[in-house]
Amino acid sequence: MSIMNDITVTCPSCEEQITVTLAESVNADRRPDLRQDIIEGTFQVVACSSCGTEFMLDPVLNYLDMARGQWFSVQPAQRLGDWVALEDEAQGTFNLAYGGQASAEARAIGDELSPRLVFGWPALREKLLIGDAELEDSIVELTKLAMIHGLPGAPIQTGVEMRLVDMQDDGGLVFQWADMFSGDVLETLVAPRALYDSIIEAPEAWAEMKASVEDGLFVDIQKLFVGEGRAAG
Ligand SMILES: [Zn+2]
Repeated sequence: MSIMNDITVTCPSCEEQITVTLAESVNADRRPDLRQDIIEGTFQVVACSSCGTEFMLDPVLNYLDMARGQWFSVQPAQRLGDWVALEDEAQGTFNLAYGGQASAEARAIGDELSPRLVFGWPALREKLLIGDAELEDSIVELTKLAMIHGLPGAPIQTGVEMRLVDMQDDGGLVFQWADMFSGDVLETLVAPRALYDSIIEAPEAWAEMKASVEDGLFVDIQKLFVGEGRAAG
């Protein structure tokens, strides 16, 4: 089920303490409208009861879509630096709900799910688009690497992320470089579908990088660029 709770937050504009409804859990099978809201960028946009300013709440939720085989632990962008600990936490949550510590019935559901950890709404939205387009998320990440490799001026830095934002009719993948805190878009670029396909067609060349991207629930090339990461072995 989808779980909503009233919480108190500080309005970023007038700094008044206001009560808003925070989504702690989204079930996209039962509430496809919430999934659509996330894709449209209107989910968890709240208005201050004091000054009327609209703002988006940071995500802290679990997301389930059995039809598309997707399960996400969604964390605020600000917590990206804690991804190693949060990955363990997300794995624990998944194990309890659908993994080794769950009932046989829940495990049967879990067998069909790919659990993932994502940071921020654009990262979640990207995974939803990937689900719609029936792409493989690790291959999308490798497509980003292939593009970055061919762009010496790519704005790689902590706090700037490259996200899939749209699919073209011809299968082209539209990416944006954006500031993960302000949302400011720095650059938009398109990867031809042939680039994505070329990675699938050259499994040996990409094997090592694919293994490191797919290692754990945080399937995102950001882990290659941020902080200490997880120690080998
Ligand atoms: Zn306000």
